[in-house]
Amino acid sequence: MKELRRQRVFDLLKGKDESLVNGEVNVKGWVRTKRGNKNVAFIALNDGSIIHNIQVVVEVQSFGNDEMLKKITTGACISVNGKLVESKGSGQNVEILAHEIELYGTADAETYPLQKKGHSLEFLREIAHLRPRTNTFGAIFRIRHALAFAIHKYYNDKGFYYLHTPIITGSDAEGAGAMFRVTTLDLHNVPTTPEGKIDFQQDFFGKETNLTVSGQLEGELGALALSNIYTFGPTFRAENSNTTRHLAEFWMIEPEMAFYDINDNQDLAEDFLKYLIGYVLENCADDLEFLQKMYDKELIERLQFVTSNTFERLSYTAAIEILEKSGEKFEFPVKWGVDLQSEHERYLVEKHFKKPVILTDYPRDIKAFYMKQNDDGKTVRAMDVLFPKIGEIIGGSQREENYDKLVSRIKEMGIPEKDVWWYLETRKFGTAPHSGFGLGFERLMLFITGMGNIRDVIPFPRAPLNAEF
Ligand code: ATP
Ligand code: MN
Repeated sequence: MKELRRQRVFDLLKGKDESLVNGEVNVKGWVRTKRGNKNVAFIALNDGSIIHNIQVVVEVQSFGNDEMLKKITTGACISVNGKLVESKGSGQNVEILAHEIELYGTADAETYPLQKKGHSLEFLREIAHLRPRTNTFGAIFRIRHALAFAIHKYYNDKGFYYLHTPIITGSDAEGAGAMFRVTTLDLHNVPTTPEGKIDFQQDFFGKETNLTVSGQLEGELGALALSNIYTFGPTFRAENSNTTRHLAEFWMIEPEMAFYDINDNQDLAEDFLKYLIGYVLENCADDLEFLQKMYDKELIERLQFVTSNTFERLSYTAAIEILEKSGEKFEFPVKWGVDLQSEHERYLVEKHFKKPVILTDYPRDIKAFYMKQNDDGKTVRAMDVLFPKIGEIIGGSQREENYDKLVSRIKEMGIPEKDVWWYLETRKFGTAPHSGFGLGFERLMLFITGMGNIRDVIPFPRAPLNAEF
């Protein structure tokens, strides 16, 4: 085969380089379909750079090599040299008249699982090693990339620094959920102390360690030096919750800002979410249109609605009153003091306000130890951002910066001071008002893609009894 520079299907279909038209080009990719007759074959080729396929036209008689043409079936990988021409058919502006084809890999029609279109999402979850080759997952993973990029761009443009917090943590004071242990001890022969307890001094780090549930505590250390930081990394929770909104391994974005109060924190959260959704609307239009067509007719409208409306802000206490007066039959009854369930959150967002809601000032007994205590002695400066179809998408707070109040709170909650001495020292040395929040990356992906199950917005979902790929 003649050596030609490979062109991305994206660039060819988007007309990135007009001078290529009527010239000889090379494309490589996976066959989505092949149809035709004994005179001409049409191959729809996709290289993952764009949702659309490029059409490869083969004049069967002059091309020869019937043997190879027969082997080019759905799923096969090929490299094509040919002339890029304006298309006569509708639906695409250019196509390729093939001169030479190299067959990189066949895909046996009898056994290739994606031979036919229209598989269920459940089935595709069982073949997570191949599902990136479907239109749906191509679109989702391109959007995921765009969103990750936009997150870094947003904070970089605002002067926030990306802080890498540890994935293995020696602190289990976070309280955000059950943790996965990290150990190199021999599980068949665990060393014990004279009292018969597991001797973690013999473990790799000389103490108990786990996978992190949040980068926040370390993020605060960064903010109290660099002013504005954010983390963006994997977090782990060993909760055995088999819901459509929980993963055992998920990604979180956690900005932490010195000198921000709870109002600044809400402003940032709202602006950030609107920026990200706007970025995807602007940069992933083809993929969004595909997902809208296939899964969710109101998708783009819903995204536009969020970017163009002010979020409703109210206190937890005011929200409880609304829920109590709603006359709605909830599975979990509401009264002041209970943790809100997603049915309550969704009632507020979807039925009552009909737009995203930020709730603040939650009862302190249902929130973490580090949240700033209000003067009423009952509530803390927490904030949760609630979204349509999702419920909680962000959880955050202004942090308690007063040393004495923080110490008395951890005592009340039974957290050993020796586990958080380093955290407490930030309140001893140059403490400052500060705030932050955590945005669940996959929860945002759920909202933006319109998918119904969180396992479909991450390439290799980790959930109870699910770590095959
Ligand atoms: P929820 O009540 O929905 O289980 P949470 O209150 O335990 O969430 P936080 O500790 O506040 O969650 O974490 C911050 C954000 O991380 C949440 O707002 C959510 O977007 C996301 N998140 C939390 N747990 C999970 C999970 N298991 N899988 C995916 N995302 C999660
Ligand atoms: Mn939360």
